[in-house]
Amino acid sequence: MNDLPATATCPECGTQLGPAMLNCPTCKRLRHSDELKQLAQSAEQSEAAGDLSLALGAWRRALELLPPGTKQGEVISAKIGVLSLRVERDPSAAPKQIVDGATKPRKGGLAWLLATAALLLSKAKTLLLGLTKGSTFFSMLLSMGVYWAAFGWRFAAGLIVSIYIHEMGHVAALARYGIRASAPMFIPGLGAVVRMKQYPHSPREDARVGLAGPLWGMAAAIGFWSISLATGWQSWAAIAKVGAWVNLFNLMPVWQLDGARGLRALTRIERIVLIFALAVAWVLTHEGLLILLLLVAAWRALAEKGAEKPDVGILATFIVLLAILCPLTQLKVRGLAQ
Ligand SMILES: [Zn+2]
Ligand SMILES: [Zn+2]
Repeated sequence: MNDLPATATCPECGTQLGPAMLNCPTCKRLRHSDELKQLAQSAEQSEAAGDLSLALGAWRRALELLPPGTKQGEVISAKIGVLSLRVERDPSAAPKQIVDGATKPRKGGLAWLLATAALLLSKAKTLLLGLTKGSTFFSMLLSMGVYWAAFGWRFAAGLIVSIYIHEMGHVAALARYGIRASAPMFIPGLGAVVRMKQYPHSPREDARVGLAGPLWGMAAAIGFWSISLATGWQSWAAIAKVGAWVNLFNLMPVWQLDGARGLRALTRIERIVLIFALAVAWVLTHEGLLILLLLVAAWRALAEKGAEKPDVGILATFIVLLAILCPLTQLKVRGLAQ
């Protein structure tokens, strides 16, 4: 919130207000009451028009302008919770803002076909959007240089594309929930990050934003693998294999990794189910990384109480990710550095 004036005077009682004050200490008048009214109005209009992501964005901004512990803040928090659940349950809720109602299929196959094409185009747009940011592009080139030196240019370019798709998964989920975030930044040799400018409202939201990255990354790995099957190009199989491994690594439930954000939404019993799934995956593949994931998940199941409410959707997402990423890490590749 750098756009606040350094100091201001309360229009109600004339008290001097410091830069961080959200209400007047004397008469309690809200500093941003006009902007709050506008935000509430535009949120309600967006909701009525069916654009839940836009409505969520306006409510989140409003929450930032309210001092903590106010009645209005509680009401807005509750609204965000309800809208967030609606976005989660209605898969067509988010793309509406991008394709102007084209995602609502009416009767007939043609309309459905058009809607699907529009949805795909909207995804392509999301993918391309990140490329227009100069910092992303520059850091991507830097990253590419490091991988290039190690593995050759085809592999380097493919891996960068995989990581990019992974990050855009986070970006798309954040946009769906109306959470402001930066464009992806590539860290040479390490991967990439998207920095959130607002906190997710609940562990439920955070888990979905967290696992969206590995989900998109998994789709990218399947894509690269399919191309290698069709063409016999080994560098593409190498990209699928390493990409799958990188996404699996990101599922580790520790630090700020995606897996940690997913795990936060799981109850202790769900965590034990996940540990069981990891054990099965290890027995089937003997992928060493799974032992590490299992140990960390076991430690967190023992050390913490876990979420209060179960989140079957997130548990199922973890299991699908394991079921697809683990076999992909086992791909046989001839001559990795070609
Ligand atoms: Zn005042
Ligand atoms: Zn991620």
